[in-house]
Amino acid sequence: MANIKSTRDDTHQCEKCLPAYCCNYFAFGIDEPENRRDYESLLWKIAHENTSIYIYRQDWFIMIHNRCNFLMPDNKCAIYEHRPYMCREHSTESCEYTGDDYGFTEHFKSYDDLLIYIKENTNFRFKHGPTGVGPNCL
Ligand code: SF4
Ligand code: SF4
Repeated sequence: MANIKSTRDDTHQCEKCLPAYCCNYFAFGIDEPENRRDYESLLWKIAHENTSIYIYRQDWFIMIHNRCNFLMPDNKCAIYEHRPYMCREHSTESCEYTGDDYGFTEHFKSYDDLLIYIKENTNFRFKHGPTGVGPNCL
């Protein structure tokens, strides 16, 4: 989601951002997990490819790492004049390229990331250890 191209001329940072990070995912808010079933549900979700989970401040989100169909090979937006408001409002000043891991409080990129977080931060007992399966995304 980017307002990629109008602000791009100010800093040229978008030309260096390949592929455009902000056009390669979408995310939506979810309820904060409260019990074991909630955490199991999140472990199941993050077991799927191209899925990560993050906490921004106090809020939880699921992130789907999936390229927008309108991002062209030259890193420009094919529907720039009609791009959705999320893209119009996106700023290059504090974006995925300039922020440190998007500025998230936590970013779980694998089943193991989330499992370790649960073990270290909750009283829910998950007997199994990390699976060794790697991250779902960069
Ligand atoms: S519509 Fe355009 S600016 Fe928005 S995510 Fe897709 S390629 Fe990026
Ligand atoms: S993440 Fe930032 S630098 Fe990269 S294309 Fe989007 S607005 Fe430009």
